[in-house]
Amino acid sequence: MRVLLAEDDDGVADALSEALYEHGHLPTRVRRGEEVLVRHRRADLLLLDLGLPDLDGLEVLRKLRAVSGLPVVVLTARGDERSVVRGLRLGADDYLVKPVRLAELLARIEAVTRRAAAPAATAAAPAPRTVRAEDVEVDLDARRVTVGGAEVRLTTKEFAVLAALATRAGTAVSRQQLMDEVWGDAYLAVSRSLDVHLTQLRAKIGRPEVLTTIRGFGYRFGG
Ligand code: CA
Repeated sequence: MRVLLAEDDDGVADALSEALYEHGHLPTRVRRGEEVLVRHRRADLLLLDLGLPDLDGLEVLRKLRAVSGLPVVVLTARGDERSVVRGLRLGADDYLVKPVRLAELLARIEAVTRRAAAPAATAAAPAPRTVRAEDVEVDLDARRVTVGGAEVRLTTKEFAVLAALATRAGTAVSRQQLMDEVWGDAYLAVSRSLDVHLTQLRAKIGRPEVLTTIRGFGYRFGG
């Protein structure tokens, strides 16, 4: 896979490039945000450092998303949660906190490209707006959930949690990612809220197999 790596730190860039290359990817390294905007069409995935010398990584992402659905994994310094949340809102597919563990990087890249390769999630086609698992149907536009054809009434937050999982049906979503998306950067305070909302969701939906707990990581809808 052609990986565009936007990273101004030579040490980090060299280590990542080498690891990517060893695992069968074709990394191209750039140092500046402007280069991302010029070169993204020849890449299958972008690894984007947020601290670039010319343009802020988030600005690069915002500009990129205006023209491209290229899968993007953001690289961020620890303690930079606000940027991560903004990054996810601006359309990053995932993020990694530096120092990056290579095994994790490769696994995330694989997961992101798997999602991007699913026919309904390609850049050209809009994401599916109704997601099904067994007889549970989540209509993301109408914000309507039915189980066996009967509507289930959810609170705004319960729906937000379910929607965050349903948009990535079949994929494990980490607790941190769920909390970032649903509660924004207040997530540190709401770890237990997430559990409460999931318990409520499970009780209302009544299909325990549709909302799976991935121990020590997060949750998965369907698949
Ligand atoms: Ca940097």
